Amino acid sequence: MSAPAQPQPPVRRRLAARGLVQGVGCRPFIFRLASELGLAGWVRNHSAGVTIEVEGPPATLDAFVDKLVENFPVPGRLEELTTATVPATGEVGFRIVASEASGAALAWVLPDLALCPDCRRELLDPGDRRYGYAFLNCTHCGPRFTIIRDVPYDRAHTTMAAFALCDACRAEYEDPHDRRFHAQPTACAACGPRLSLAVATAADGLRAGRILAVKGLGGYHLAVDATNDAAVARLRERKQREARPLAVMVLDLAGARALGTVSDHEAELLASPAAPIVLLDRRADAPLAESVAPGQTTVGVLLAYTPLHVLLLRAVGRPLVMTSGNLSDEPIAHRDEDAAARLGGLADLFLAHDRPIERRCDDSVLRAWRGRTLFIRRSRGYAPAPLRLAPGGPSVLAVGGHQKNTFCLTRGSEAFLSHHVGDLENAAALAAFETGIADFERLFDLRPERLACDLHPDYLATRYAHQRAAREGLPLTEVQHHHAHIAACLADNERADEVLGLAFDGTGYGPDGTIWGGEALLADRRGYRRVARVRPFALAGGEAAVRQGWRVALDLARQAACDFEPGVDPAQASAVRQMLAGGFRCVTTSSAGRLFDGFSALCGVAAVSRYEGEAAVRLEGCAVDDGEALPFDVARVGELWELDWRPAVAAALQSHARGVSPAALAGRFHRGLAAAATRLCDELGAATVALGGGCWQNVRLLSLVVDGLSARGHEVLTHRRVSPNDGGLSWGQAACVLAE
Ligand code: ZN
Ligand code: ZN
Ligand code: FE
Repeated sequence: MSAPAQPQPPVRRRLAARGLVQGVGCRPFIFRLASELGLAGWVRNHSAGVTIEVEGPPATLDAFVDKLVENFPVPGRLEELTTATVPATGEVGFRIVASEASGAALAWVLPDLALCPDCRRELLDPGDRRYGYAFLNCTHCGPRFTIIRDVPYDRAHTTMAAFALCDACRAEYEDPHDRRFHAQPTACAACGPRLSLAVATAADGLRAGRILAVKGLGGYHLAVDATNDAAVARLRERKQREARPLAVMVLDLAGARALGTVSDHEAELLASPAAPIVLLDRRADAPLAESVAPGQTTVGVLLAYTPLHVLLLRAVGRPLVMTSGNLSDEPIAHRDEDAAARLGGLADLFLAHDRPIERRCDDSVLRAWRGRTLFIRRSRGYAPAPLRLAPGGPSVLAVGGHQKNTFCLTRGSEAFLSHHVGDLENAAALAAFETGIADFERLFDLRPERLACDLHPDYLATRYAHQRAAREGLPLTEVQHHHAHIAACLADNERADEVLGLAFDGTGYGPDGTIWGGEALLADRRGYRRVARVRPFALAGGEAAVRQGWRVALDLARQAACDFEPGVDPAQASAVRQMLAGGFRCVTTSSAGRLFDGFSALCGVAAVSRYEGEAAVRLEGCAVDDGEALPFDVARVGELWELDWRPAVAAALQSHARGVSPAALAGRFHRGLAAAATRLCDELGAATVALGGGCWQNVRLLSLVVDGLSARGHEVLTHRRVSPNDGGLSWGQAACVLAE
């Protein structure tokens, strides 16, 4: 007869959790989990994450770890969990230990989080004490990055410091069982921020077609009824935004489905804590004013992501255009005085409040592609969550490019890629760039030891880096634009080997003084060799040719020995023909992006771009695949391979003359270019191909090239966490420096 089983002696383990583990309700979750399992020990925040000690039977400890990993609270993210056995202490009960005193820098500064389902229920429940309160939040949701003034992340260091908790809120804040345990921005109507205008009044104004400036998480939006064409047109006129598509906010997924087709993946992205703008295929019967996204087959949609948005959308009962509160290319207004001054002439009404926004953060924009996130703009909801950037090393500040600027600051193998700064075209944008960098250095307590910038001598970001390098005696690395794009793609895939990089992009400075943008680079993170390019053509009048793609089309036709009538003022066309014939005021480029503009004009889709990239975007949007392809050649020209578009130009013009539709020609252009890119990779014998540059936002091109390359046995690397466009440039620059 066997003796009754002896209880196993308790074991104690110390767990270190790293990742997005602070400010997301992690400690109450661990407290509840340990208590349920009857384990003893404690949990506390420390500078690099969360430390847990648990004591109990080994099998129960294993169950604890399994549940911890499986059920880790969204929106947190457990990146790493290390375990060590330590001597048992006989401790009884589980507790939350106060954070280590001062000096405990926040592991990570969290991105802002969209209203969570629990808070949404309370907001709309007449029986709840926070019913209808526009600033409720909890540890699973609410502002973070945009209200933090200093670290560590606690209320005194946020813009909520001025609001003293009432007794009811304090009791929740101090109760480890409560969803609002240590929810730093928690508040209620009795103690928290207040609106400057009744939601009902704002909604009445919107329904009457008026323009509302509404204060959001990372800045002011300009809102207008998205079903009212006259109202949207007036907003465009006042904002000096002629044609660029406007994003539309809806109350919920049902609202999104009324505007566009929503796949499961798109639904997941829309409803995620980041609540980005997702580009959806627009429904033909979408109840939207034509002026919201003129000439577009897609529409950018986002869900109401703050309680204020939910109240407003419900009161209006219609989708709302939500565009950043600024004049054309200026940074979004986020301070109240600045908003009043800059938006006063644009808005009819203001819906503001007294919770200050510490730093601006634009909405993120992305596309769903084959179950992946394709970032067009990575900003609110994502920044400044760190991205792993191996191998790590000294702290690097990479300043990015000129358009869609972001900067990137590294700490070990973590990269803090900034929110969207924008085009560094004006003094306001440059100021936002400089204060943004200073802000990140303070927030993450970092002083860069290395600097990186673009090779272009005239970019304002480049000048900043040079001045700073001289002033502080820091080593500065200039990274060629397209090498940075390919390095970005490599780093995004955690790869360090040599690949063939296909940099299909707008424009970037080439070391030969010409403008590059359609390059094949044999590259790793340390260096590159250019092995192929798009056959060069002329930008007649320089920047003018970027806005007027028909100028590009004229040179493409000239080089292909074809006649092309661009359908513009004949005097202008003949002036450009003379420029091209004489080669004066012409800039030479191999840009794939500009090639799209040129073909957009040649195919009869768009002769001009009213905003950056319009002609190319419309060429993609209108394209219909009839299975045919324009014939591009791939040929060796001296040292380089060239992607020769001349036969494609001739074929496009002949087909156009025979009555083939612009949409079909657009489809054939994509197919032809993708086939040529695939052939080029074959010729160059590339095992692995990395796709970097703004053209890879074009999902038609991306799908064709990925399928073509995969079918022929090439491994293909595409972007996942960072944008392929210039928003990812600083990340690529940092990757290059860390590889040195
Ligand atoms: Zn919540
Ligand atoms: Zn309260
Ligand atoms: Fe670029």
